[in-house]
Amino acid sequence: MNSAEQKVVSLINREEITSFMKALIQAHSDYPPGDTREIAELCKNKLEEYGIETEIVIPPETVISPKNDGIDNITKPSVIGKIQGKPGPTLLLNAHIDTVPAGDLSQWKYDPFEGVVDNGMIYGRGAGDDKGSVLAQIMAACAIKKAEIPLKGTLLINPVADEEAHSWRGARWLRDSGILKPDLAIIGEQTDNEVAVGERSIAFFVVTIHGKAAHGAMPWAGNNATIHMSKFVMLVNEELVPELQANKPPYLPATTLATTRIKGGSLTNIIPEECVLGIDCRMTPNITKEYVKGRLEDLLRKMSEESDQPFEWSVEITNNDIGVNTDAEHPLIKTLLGALKDVRGKQVEPTGYYQHSDGSRFAKLGIPIAIFGPGDPVLGHAPNECVSIDQLVEASKTLAIAVMRLMASED
Ligand SMILES: [Zn+2]
Repeated sequence: MNSAEQKVVSLINREEITSFMKALIQAHSDYPPGDTREIAELCKNKLEEYGIETEIVIPPETVISPKNDGIDNITKPSVIGKIQGKPGPTLLLNAHIDTVPAGDLSQWKYDPFEGVVDNGMIYGRGAGDDKGSVLAQIMAACAIKKAEIPLKGTLLINPVADEEAHSWRGARWLRDSGILKPDLAIIGEQTDNEVAVGERSIAFFVVTIHGKAAHGAMPWAGNNATIHMSKFVMLVNEELVPELQANKPPYLPATTLATTRIKGGSLTNIIPEECVLGIDCRMTPNITKEYVKGRLEDLLRKMSEESDQPFEWSVEITNNDIGVNTDAEHPLIKTLLGALKDVRGKQVEPTGYYQHSDGSRFAKLGIPIAIFGPGDPVLGHAPNECVSIDQLVEASKTLAIAVMRLMASED
């Protein structure tokens, strides 16, 4: 660490982190309804307290969430803080300010909206997912601003709404409207302060098999679509699932493919002419949705050709979210790993993020993405969610150093 970095790190204050974290937890933002007005105000006030130019942005009425949850966009503000340096690339720090609900309150040791500190941990809904990351990104930027570090490029700090409702009124809108046009991004999610370079993409498939209807008393007169589909489900699970699982990068869970919904027939006394299957597939970066679709089609074609009752079929992709796949050698990743090593005092290897984050929204821009933040991912979305204060401090310092190095200016 050089002297400027040491100065910035010394401005990151444990007491301030603890009290701000409590305030963030106390500002309810659980979805539904995921009202982020109070927490957005808190984030804006903190950034402005340090002299960072900040605005609140609200999606216009024309932005519609397919979730169709009837929630007014006015309750979905996001925050954009900006430190403008000399001309250069735009680095985005993004973490979501909405959370999932607290669930069964009797399962919690402490009130999930109080922010109780016990044995170095702060408890509360959103402690790890994702208010700890929101805090670390803000604290890092505030320390850089206070130390008056000259930067090259634009630093954007974006506590964002609507992630738990699939980001239509948050990251997707900010990306598609051009309000956020980053050249590189660090997405705050609970990675236990590890540096994640990838996450799996998602595709849903709908497979339809068409047979021929007949009276239930004369099955030989029809072509039973549910029998074909039953065989297909077995074939997919016996052949395709192990094949997809076999080939995976070391830092991510293997590709999973699950046959999740099946619907066939209309009345008990009619041989069903149609059967529909739903499939949920989570793919590692080396496997594409086109490849999986092609394999499903191969299996259907082969089955129909080999059957004494051939059938018609179709495969459709109904939902698709790309993943994150950043080269572990990219300077963004190397710099974050280097900063983490200097703060923690030991070498850290890149890893993967097991869930799905707003990283995938920005990956669509073709930019490098790192996923990094405090909190154990196992504790998110569960009772007694908590985050270690040590980790909050470590994440804040790591981000501050990484931003300084990524946006280093000669003067
Ligand atoms: Zn999250």
